[in-house]
Amino acid sequence: MYPEAKKLSSREPVNMNEADLKFASEIGEIAGTDLNTCLTCMSCSGGCPMYAYMDYGPHGIMRLAVLGLKREALTSSTIWRCVGCHACAAVCPMAINIAAVMDYLRQECIDDRLPVGDRPLFEFHRAFLYSVRRHGRSNKVELMGHHKLLTLGSGPKAWFQDAWLGTKMILMGKFHLMPSRLMGNGIGQVRKIATGSWLDW
Ligand code: SF4
Ligand code: SF4
Repeated sequence: MYPEAKKLSSREPVNMNEADLKFASEIGEIAGTDLNTCLTCMSCSGGCPMYAYMDYGPHGIMRLAVLGLKREALTSSTIWRCVGCHACAAVCPMAINIAAVMDYLRQECIDDRLPVGDRPLFEFHRAFLYSVRRHGRSNKVELMGHHKLLTLGSGPKAWFQDAWLGTKMILMGKFHLMPSRLMGNGIGQVRKIATGSWLDW
């Protein structure tokens, strides 16, 4: 993953014709947080470990939401590159639950079948869920192989970029070829959780 230029610094005019002015309050209801209180102070982006790799950053996503620029927010790379660490919420003076907002936007992107802002990351989420559904927990070898298959079209560079890391993990005994499975009715319980529109995409 490489650092990404920020779209907020673009000179392109913002098209407000398709603005959905109820978007921020919709998110607020689901994510339990009021986005209209955002001060655009950028404290969240300042503390975000993934900010360099995002097209908007958390403060930019809050601004898009308040302006009602739904499609722009839902197709951004930011919502996929958020790792849910909550560092942003810890420093937000308005106590906005930004990680919950990102969760909601990812789900909305899937439900609306919009182009995802980072396809390989999306496929990683899917490969992880498939593995958890099959075994009740993730199996790293299966996860890695499945992710490579799902991102077949990304080209040889994407395919081999983590080959050295994978080799090191094998040498350190971090990969187990035989998956361990949850016993009893545990798998059934996990399958009830690991389900939804993500897997049917
Ligand atoms: S830290 Fe909170 S108030 Fe400041 S820009 Fe981020 S979300 Fe808005
Ligand atoms: S939860 Fe997401 S947006 Fe917030 S600091 Fe962590 S990576 Fe950045």
